[in-house]
Amino acid sequence: MPRVPKVSPLTDPAPVEDAISLMSEVFALVGSTKDSQQMLKGACRLLAAGRPWELAWVGIVDPNGRIQPIAQAGLRDKDLGSISLAWDSDSSGEAIAPTAARESLPQVMTDLKEDRRPEPWRTQALARGCRAAAAFPLRFGENVLGVLSLYAPSSDAFGTAELSVLQGLTDHLAHGLGRLQAEEQRAKRMREFEVIRSLTSQMISRPDHSTLLHTVVEEATDLLEGACGGMYLSEPEEQVVRCLVSYPTPPDYTGAVLRYGEGAAGLVAQTGQGMIIPDYPQWPGRSDLLQEGAPLQSLLTVPMTLQGRVIGVIEIWRTAEQPPFTRADLDLLTLFANQAAVALENARLIEWTASERQRVQLLYDVTQALTRSLDPAEILQRAIALTTDSIGAMFGEAFLLERSTGRLRLRVLAGRDPVEIPEIESRLSARQGKGLVGWIAKTRQPALVDDVTTDDRWEEVGGVEGIHTALGAPVLAGNDLLGVIMLFHRDRAAFHDEHLHLLTAIARQVGLALSNAERFQQTRRRLAEMSAIQQVGQVINRRLEMQPLLEEVVHQVGEVLGYPVVEILLVDGQELTVRASRGSKYEVPHRIPLSEGLVGRAARTNEPAYAPDIRLDPDYVNALPDTQAEIVVPLRERGVVFGVMNVESPEAGSLTEDDLRLLSLLADQISVAIENAALYDHLRQHADELEQTVAERTSLLAEALEQARQADRIKSQFVSDVSHELRTPLSNIRLYLDLLTQGKPDRFSNYVDTLTRETERLMRLIEDLLAISRLDAGATPLTSTPLDLNDLARTLVQDRQRLFAARGLVLQFQPQAALPPILADEHMLSQVVANLLTNAMQYTPMGTVTISTASMCQDDRTWTTLTVADTGLGIPLEEQPRLFERFFRGANSHTVRAPGTGLGLAICKEILDRHGGKISLESQVGRGSAFTLWLPACEGPPVAPSAHDGIEG
Ligand code: ADP
Repeated sequence: MPRVPKVSPLTDPAPVEDAISLMSEVFALVGSTKDSQQMLKGACRLLAAGRPWELAWVGIVDPNGRIQPIAQAGLRDKDLGSISLAWDSDSSGEAIAPTAARESLPQVMTDLKEDRRPEPWRTQALARGCRAAAAFPLRFGENVLGVLSLYAPSSDAFGTAELSVLQGLTDHLAHGLGRLQAEEQRAKRMREFEVIRSLTSQMISRPDHSTLLHTVVEEATDLLEGACGGMYLSEPEEQVVRCLVSYPTPPDYTGAVLRYGEGAAGLVAQTGQGMIIPDYPQWPGRSDLLQEGAPLQSLLTVPMTLQGRVIGVIEIWRTAEQPPFTRADLDLLTLFANQAAVALENARLIEWTASERQRVQLLYDVTQALTRSLDPAEILQRAIALTTDSIGAMFGEAFLLERSTGRLRLRVLAGRDPVEIPEIESRLSARQGKGLVGWIAKTRQPALVDDVTTDDRWEEVGGVEGIHTALGAPVLAGNDLLGVIMLFHRDRAAFHDEHLHLLTAIARQVGLALSNAERFQQTRRRLAEMSAIQQVGQVINRRLEMQPLLEEVVHQVGEVLGYPVVEILLVDGQELTVRASRGSKYEVPHRIPLSEGLVGRAARTNEPAYAPDIRLDPDYVNALPDTQAEIVVPLRERGVVFGVMNVESPEAGSLTEDDLRLLSLLADQISVAIENAALYDHLRQHADELEQTVAERTSLLAEALEQARQADRIKSQFVSDVSHELRTPLSNIRLYLDLLTQGKPDRFSNYVDTLTRETERLMRLIEDLLAISRLDAGATPLTSTPLDLNDLARTLVQDRQRLFAARGLVLQFQPQAALPPILADEHMLSQVVANLLTNAMQYTPMGTVTISTASMCQDDRTWTTLTVADTGLGIPLEEQPRLFERFFRGANSHTVRAPGTGLGLAICKEILDRHGGKISLESQVGRGSAFTLWLPACEGPPVAPSAHDGIEG
């Protein structure tokens, strides 16, 4: 039972009845009304209408311990609008309403004029004609929900009975209010839950993390009827919270960072406890973030907790004009924040999964794109374009390491105009180790820079303003740096670790693709080289002669391989001779000392001379004014240099190591071709000689054949001649033998003479035939002894003296004194001289036959000669060449009917041939003939003249 103060007893029954009817009206009101505000207003109206009280108001106790009037009736309705009564703490707390609420007991002021307590409003109440007042606590269980205050125009308006009735009425009202409030609270909760539920479902259906963050803040601000709101996310590693959403803007706190414990958000993140700060500007823990003069007053901050972890903080602000935050607001926002935490986590997971899928897709796309090309520039272009687009970068850059200079050259731009490359290059000094790109190249580490403007490594090159985030990764092949890929974003911290990992993975793929491409280019280059070498080789191998070959070589090397200047120089003693040239100013052959120039060095050292930039080679001798680069490769045979091939170009750097390798390979092939050509030249010379020899031999053979044929003809003629010569004497012999039997006896002696002559002729013929056949067969060996021709001749002359005399002929001998002896077969030589004497006798009808000897010099030799000269018929000139043929008989033989075989002179010649001598003839028809034997004189003392020397005959 509520405590009721002791009041004066009810004396007048009328007011009691009135009170009872009032009570029943209030009961009816409480039973029928669903809205607490409406119920309290209705109650005030019932209390103020026609009652002794002309003013009734109800105040509700707020969570801050103040009593806020929410319903009134009587006097002028607005009169109490601004009244706010505290429970205690100030003078207004002494008023009866707070006292009633505080003490949970009705309070009465029987006469405002007398009772001095309820200052300061008592004077105003008196001015409005009030004399008495009473306040009744709205008691609901242990709680006082509010206060009902009644003002009456007359003092002593509240009797004990009235007070009792009114307190009963107030209690009833309080019950109604409590029930309705609970109802309303429940409905409000339901509404809040509904709001949260719908928000949560909305949030969950929103996969985009960033949008969701904004949605959460907007919805929370609306839900809590705040002026503005914000969200911070925790970064536990750094022990900071970072403002990601600020709503509405301005003011914009996005990007603001607070340490744990700093400001309200930092404190909440640290403690995990939500808090209400009714007067933030005066709050000692406030941060400097809140702008000066901002109209914000109270702050509600709660953690977003997920599985015991504070993942962030939501804060809602209200202005001074807005009601302060309550515990219920705190609970509501906490509930909401935790729902939001789940939704955010889900969104993050969804987004992570989605972005992970996207990343995998991107990586796949990049890999696909890369495998479709083998051109390094195209590979970079595709990778950068795809990545820039997919990651949402402002633009991307790809650098390639230039090995010769160590420079990182900008090769590809995505998201910007490629014509800017030279311009950017000129401003950029992206050597290894310089700038952010250089740092990545040097350390081989990827880099993620949230704000380049605060990064020491960043080099401002100008031309691109407003870059904040930079993301870069090295392009590696194994440990070799190939280049660097960079992505840029206008916003701060636009990229995360995932992007860094992704770019690193892409860079790895690019590295693979680039090294594959390089390998492919190498293979293709090798193939091209091989086919060029093959092509050149095929053509030059068709050339066999040296000079055409050398000319073909320079032509092919220049034409097929595209070198503007090509020369072939061959070593010639201490010089090199330009033997073939193309595009050179030198006339062939031009001579260069072995000691000079790159050509000389290559020939001397047996090593290629390579000058990609001739200005840097001290050995270079300026020959062609345009030359900037030169390669000289030695030509060798079995390791020994016999020449060089020289290639020059008017473009510096245009002759590369590849050219050097190609030309070296080619040099081997050219060397072989030149070697073959030399061999061919040699062989051809040899063949010419051989041909000549063969021709000579052939003519000799033809001659021999002709001789053989001649011999054959002579032999046939010989056989026929022999047959003929044999037949003639034999026929005669048969004829005369017949005559011996049948002829006249007186002629028998003639017959016998003829028979004897023919027989002798036959015998001579047979002897001659035997002699010549023995000579032919070589059956008669020479028995050479030193001979004195004078002795031999003298003997024969003596033997024939008588015979010659018998024919009326003079035979004389004229030997030369001191005649050099000869080496000869005496018998054979006697036969020769005897033959000559017989012929001289037969063909000299009358006159003299002279034998003479002499010593003669001819053909640097000493000859001993013997001449048989006659004064006979002589021999016609036309017969002379045939005189020594076998069986040849001159016309004169028939004239003088000389017996003979035509073999005599042939036998003489044969015998002299076998002695290394010769026989010569001088003859004139009608004047005689002289046959001279020539025999080589022996070394040794001349034969002393004998007693017979002198004219003999
Ligand atoms: P033959 O005397 O048996 O006829 P040879 O061989 O001795 O054969 O001589 C060949 C020919 O040479 C003779 O037939 C003759 O015509 C000529 N002849 C040789 N000796 C003389 C000579 N002293 N004077 C002239 N003619 C000669």
